[in-house]
Amino acid sequence: MNYKIEIARHAGFCFGVKRAYDMVLNALKTDDSLYMLGDLIHNKQVVNELKDKGAKVIENLDGIENGTLVIRAHGISIEELNIAQKKGFNIVDATCPYVKIPQKAAQKLSDEDYFIILVGDKGHPEVDSIVSYLKKDNFIITKKTSDLTYEFFKKNPKIGVIAQTTLPLQTLQDIITYSLNYAKEINIINSICDATFIRQEETLELARNADCMIILGGKHSANTTRLKELASVYCSNTHHIESEQELKNSWFENVNHIGISAGASTPDAQIEIVRQYIISILEENSL
Ligand code: SF4
Repeated sequence: MNYKIEIARHAGFCFGVKRAYDMVLNALKTDDSLYMLGDLIHNKQVVNELKDKGAKVIENLDGIENGTLVIRAHGISIEELNIAQKKGFNIVDATCPYVKIPQKAAQKLSDEDYFIILVGDKGHPEVDSIVSYLKKDNFIITKKTSDLTYEFFKKNPKIGVIAQTTLPLQTLQDIITYSLNYAKEINIINSICDATFIRQEETLELARNADCMIILGGKHSANTTRLKELASVYCSNTHHIESEQELKNSWFENVNHIGISAGASTPDAQIEIVRQYIISILEENSL
């Protein structure tokens, strides 16, 4: 049987995730009370691996008075950072430098009295961290132009636009194009991370030609979920999995060209395991 398995060139760990992962491994060499506030990255297997090596995952700082605290790649809120500093934690700041861009922009534009349209997902840890840099009641979190009425722009003549780093470019473009119809002053910070954009473009390109697309990464990972949405536009046989155990033989029946892409928190080793598993299914199907 002839088949082709193509892996997106930039699939897997991005710069910020690799940096955070390496920082934890490094800190674990000397530290035996190392805490990660929430998941360091959106990948269960990687978080479990770090837990096995001695890192502890905590949901908040209650009841923990000292130790080393690793700040996840997507950042934490200023309030959480203040508590950690007051308690005297040794802080390892693994916030991705690209996430610091919208954080700093939020503070600056807020100080300059812009009303902020934060284009992103409510409740996402990165969005929560950006919100903590904004003035209270001086922002809206949305991805929909329908949330932005004529009255909204009349009430807020100075508009600042900031994007979640993993946002599809098109969503930001839609919000900006729409806002330009009404806003008198608009200050746009394009804080979308290149790594996300490149991965999304490659995934779309792969999906255009593939009969089956496998998207590997955490089910709670916003950037992986978007890869699945984008790939599905061109390839209806697209599946989002967290591990090779979820792969089904039926997905690969009468399929010749398989594309694999993976979210920013997926290590290369996991991608290779999935590739090997797909080969074994293809060979089984051809018997
Ligand atoms: S996707 Fe971009 S912003 Fe997010 S951690 Fe990776 S490099 Fe940083």
